[in-house]
Amino acid sequence: MKLSELQATLSELNASPTKSLGQNFLHDKNLAEWIISQLDLSPSDHWLEIGPGLGSLTHPACERSSHGILIEKDDRLIAFLRQRYPKLDLVHGDACDFDVRNLFCGGPLKVLGNLPYYVSSQILFNFTADATPATVLLFTLQKELAQRMAASAGGKEYGAPTVLIGRRWKVELLRTLPASVFLPAPKVESSVIRLTPRPSGELPACDAARYNTLVKLGFSQRRKQLGKLLAPALPQWSEAAEAIGAPVTSRAESLSIEQWCKLAAWTPDGPATDPASGAQDLHGETFDVVNALDEVTGQASRFEVHEQRLRHRAVHIFVFNAAGELFLQKRSRWKDVCPLMWDSSAAGHVNAGEDYAETAVRELREELGVDAAVEFVEKIEPCAETGEEFVGLYTAAHEGPFRLPPAEIDCGEWFTLYQIVRWVEARPQDFAPGFLKCWDVWRRARC
Ligand code: SAM
Repeated sequence: MKLSELQATLSELNASPTKSLGQNFLHDKNLAEWIISQLDLSPSDHWLEIGPGLGSLTHPACERSSHGILIEKDDRLIAFLRQRYPKLDLVHGDACDFDVRNLFCGGPLKVLGNLPYYVSSQILFNFTADATPATVLLFTLQKELAQRMAASAGGKEYGAPTVLIGRRWKVELLRTLPASVFLPAPKVESSVIRLTPRPSGELPACDAARYNTLVKLGFSQRRKQLGKLLAPALPQWSEAAEAIGAPVTSRAESLSIEQWCKLAAWTPDGPATDPASGAQDLHGETFDVVNALDEVTGQASRFEVHEQRLRHRAVHIFVFNAAGELFLQKRSRWKDVCPLMWDSSAAGHVNAGEDYAETAVRELREELGVDAAVEFVEKIEPCAETGEEFVGLYTAAHEGPFRLPPAEIDCGEWFTLYQIVRWVEARPQDFAPGFLKCWDVWRRARC
């Protein structure tokens, strides 16, 4: 949008830019085109824009794909946006508390925005949560914040936000924009950054909750050494520091993101096994093989059971919180079956000699790191969806947080039942078939 068009639109709306909403409208058409080109939008891509304002970025995005969602807070702009972009979905609301979980049913999407400066960090964190359908994010931010997000270890710009977001996202600083391309011109320069998911294996795998705890503690007082700050969560700092190749006198800003990951994966018994190099031991586990009546007829290794499609046993557990939300896990990329698909809160095979209920309790401990009582729902007969397994379906009640082993689980999230119903209906391909079967059975059992 040219400056004259922006001014004309504002006067038609009888509105002027509002400082408290961080309104600095972009009036350089070429720059808007360039920004959108950095998203590489194709006609089938789905995208979401935060704070479309008068449409400076919306217009070029819309020319490339009509599958867009807009989130705008300013009441004065809603009717205008609805009329100008009738094909796009418009959410009148605050992007800081927008429920990103609602987006999963729409599939992967590209996120963009010339963000209102006063809430840029909150928006960044909301849309880069571990469980997000965003595949790339392109944001214009205050230059200082952009530099902080893209900073390398050792500098004063490198801080907790850099390290927290940097575990999953690679941040590129694309270019700086002068204040003069905005109406009104802000007091500071802006920069465009692009966040893309880090390729698998680029950083050591670790538990996200442990990582976040250590990073927040470590950066809580920048001048203090890590030994003191991390003590409540990591009393063996000296040993851990040696293992990750850091001096014991280190401060938070001297540790690279890779070292933070190693630190989170470190245990007094040594580093947790790297799932990328270890792969799963497909031959080590032994399961009971059963007949059509679920009677044990022998034993076989995990490999034989799957290779020869022998009937065996497994459990799925649905964990609910007090709000009635169900915790779903996204299977890790290293899983031999259904990698990166969404699955029950916890699930696993019944080992030789074990019963279903014991297995359910063990799986909760191994996969989520918690002890909880389980309640039997139903036994599901072997079928293609369960991989020829008898499945004991259980529920449990817990509020989290959970400790998720990175070799097994990429991430996890609570979802409302309504969100899951819509998501399963729209995109069954996102879920492991075994979960879909259990979901179906659980819903029928509940009615
Ligand atoms: N995208 C437009 C452009 O580039 O010209 C406008 C960018 S302006 C910097 C920020 C936009 O975000 C404004 O339209 C403002 O009303 C909107 N906004 C402010 N706070 C918001 C919030 N919490 N949630 C969603 N939108 C918000």
